[in-house]
Amino acid sequence: MKKGLMSLAAIVVLSGSVTGCINGNLNTASLGAGMDAFKAVTLSESDAKALAARATQQMDQTNKVLSASSKHSKRLTRLVKKFRNEDGLALNFKVYGSNEMNAFAMANGTVRVYQGLMNKLTDDELRFVIGHEIGHVKLGHSLKAMRTAYATSALRKGAASQGGDVARLSGSQLGALGEKLVNAQFSQSQETDSDTYAVKFMKKYGFNPRAGLSVMEKFQKMDGGKSSMLSSHPASGAREKHIARLL
Ligand SMILES: [Zn+2]
Repeated sequence: MKKGLMSLAAIVVLSGSVTGCINGNLNTASLGAGMDAFKAVTLSESDAKALAARATQQMDQTNKVLSASSKHSKRLTRLVKKFRNEDGLALNFKVYGSNEMNAFAMANGTVRVYQGLMNKLTDDELRFVIGHEIGHVKLGHSLKAMRTAYATSALRKGAASQGGDVARLSGSQLGALGEKLVNAQFSQSQETDSDTYAVKFMKKYGFNPRAGLSVMEKFQKMDGGKSSMLSSHPASGAREKHIARLL
């Protein structure tokens, strides 16, 4: 809970199409440089929460959100029925009608799953991925990613000129932030910790944690062995071994 309060926005690209970090406008080098250069920049937790909520709104406007009556939305609603609230975090789920293999969670409880990912994974595999994304939020990785995205983007300048009022950021600034977050890269240890979280998450809700193994196997096949469609993600083979040790 304590960690949960500190978490803000977590977004992770779990996979695969070339759209994620590969073609994204962030790379490890620029992220690292940004972190050093702007280490002094701090974003209050309430500002970060406000940003997460507004970035979500913006992303929902710019992505195709499938209607509640669509096949994919009904499936997602059914498969997350047991965890509408995770450890004090009320979750809201929507499906993006994109063929990208992505999913992300934000500190305000937003979880978005892309249709492309749903088409490839079983219900339990999707639950594992969702548990992993929620792990990034609950373990505070998202707050860190949000601060980095904020510090390294034009947002900082805009907000500073407006007295730091993040509520006044424009739609395009929020869109840029959302894009950075979706392309955010977590460290290997953060990925490992979120996989551990996902295994516990599955057990807690009575689902099969071994879905974590099959999802990593799928990622390896899609990816020729390097699960990270994202360069900074640990190879899915390594993640699979870690998950197997926990089971
Ligand atoms: Zn992750």
